[in-house]
Amino acid sequence: MLISDYRALDNADNLEGLIIKKKLMDILACPIDKHYPLKLHVFEEKEEIVEGVIICPKCSRWYPIRDEIPEMLPDELRNEKDELPFMRKWKQKFPKKILTEGKPFNIGKET
Ligand SMILES: [Zn+2]
Repeated sequence: MLISDYRALDNADNLEGLIIKKKLMDILACPIDKHYPLKLHVFEEKEEIVEGVIICPKCSRWYPIRDEIPEMLPDELRNEKDELPFMRKWKQKFPKKILTEGKPFNIGKET
């Protein structure tokens, strides 16, 4: 599922309540290898997941959830400078393997 699709869903009133943990994981696949299902780690939760990370166990890619939006972007659209601070912020909650070996970038050299 593309991020643009997700935003469309998010705007639809009648789909209120769709974006809860399990449902979310039912619709998301890794944009790189299409692997499914992905793993979800929730960092901050209110009515919906505010911040967290979605991990593809097949290719070790991680996708941030920020401001309730899962950012399921292919590598070429990702911005290391923008995303590494997110990883550092939640360092204690990220799986260790992703901190050191996660793709497309990680903070392995800092850990
Ligand atoms: Zn993957």
